[in-house]
Amino acid sequence: MNEERDELAAALVHLTFMDLLGLPKEVTIPTGRLDEALHVGVAFDGSALEGFVRTAEADMRLRPDPATRSRLMAGPGRERGGHERMVCDIVLPDGTPYDACPRSILRGRLRDLEAAGMALEVGAEVEFFLLPAGAEAGTMEVPAEAAGYFDATRGSAGEAVRGEVVVALEAMGVRVEASHHEVAPAQHEIDLMATHPVALADGVATLRWLARVVAPMHGLRATFMPKPFGGLSGSGLHLALTLRAGEGGQGRAQAFAAGILAHAAALCAVANPVVNSYKRFVPGYEAPLYVTWARHHRSPLLRLVQDGRHERERGALRLEYRGPDSAANPYLLLAALIGCGLDGVERGLALPAAVEESPGRLPGEERRRRGIRRLPADLRAALDALAADAVVTQALGERVAQRLIEARAIEWEIYQETVHTWEREQYLDAL
Ligand code: GLU
Ligand code: MG
Repeated sequence: MNEERDELAAALVHLTFMDLLGLPKEVTIPTGRLDEALHVGVAFDGSALEGFVRTAEADMRLRPDPATRSRLMAGPGRERGGHERMVCDIVLPDGTPYDACPRSILRGRLRDLEAAGMALEVGAEVEFFLLPAGAEAGTMEVPAEAAGYFDATRGSAGEAVRGEVVVALEAMGVRVEASHHEVAPAQHEIDLMATHPVALADGVATLRWLARVVAPMHGLRATFMPKPFGGLSGSGLHLALTLRAGEGGQGRAQAFAAGILAHAAALCAVANPVVNSYKRFVPGYEAPLYVTWARHHRSPLLRLVQDGRHERERGALRLEYRGPDSAANPYLLLAALIGCGLDGVERGLALPAAVEESPGRLPGEERRRRGIRRLPADLRAALDALAADAVVTQALGERVAQRLIEARAIEWEIYQETVHTWEREQYLDAL
């Protein structure tokens, strides 16, 4: 009987995709059905894609991308390498692309980029916490681990999880540049090598999935929540962009960067999509607060990286976009980013002056004089910025932008209606 089960276990393919809100979804088929899945697709209820704003959009199809086929190299019962995984596009029953498929939306913006004679490679620094599996989320203590930035923690459960995730990523075709302990106790970072934007977004999805599967095997749980604890660093998803704008294209590459800054507020609705995202934007934790760029300062929104190789290569520019967090849907984030960059190129935007000091330390008057804007203070402000921004709306597609705003507005309202412990502690006896 057990052997039979093993046989079965060795013959499954997990077909994965990401919903609009960035959550992983999956349909599992026996390997015997893969041929049909590749040719015809696998029917599923398309409303699963739209997060908790469900519509009557039934009968979509998943079309697995053969280039993403890999053996699952971690997880309970999966370490034998028997299960496979493929990332899917979502198509209409007649096989044409579905306008709310995040992967297809990103491909569309990559076509726009190519038409403009530009190319983009993206890497990512993915930060996350590994916390005790059993503890209640609401009352969890700040982790007691003494380790910090780049500390060696040989033998800790956290290091074991991080190592297993890295090995599994590599075995599944996702190239890892490095990994290390991050600043806060129990905080880690895995850096993905720069690659094609769709592959990078697939890689981020695979990383999140693996971390969630591997951590419980070591008594831990992985969280990509942007700011799990007040008083500790939050977790960012910094993107390393290498932009090639062709011969004589340095100016166009800079206009692309200026486009990102021009639409920074609306981008936040995609890059920092949950209520909690905005608690990361506070002073003291190396997360950006203001819409600035710099070459040397450590935590602007956008850093132009000095890199001999790219400086020599004409028309190439390396940017580090430090705003996003891991609650973001990486496909939609990159699609929106490309839309903003191309708007900058079309309008020939110039970069504003660099800000090489902490904008938060400048007197308010000077910030105003230099036109230094703050990032949206909360999710509601970011959603309003998205609603008012035709470029980001167009980059995502009207329908998807609308869905995102609706779904996140519900989240915001629920948060607003909740009376938090802090409020009672602050006001109950004082007022
Ligand atoms: N954790 C910081 C953030 O929230 C970034 C730290 C770093 O520079 O690696 O963006
Ligand atoms: Mg980091």
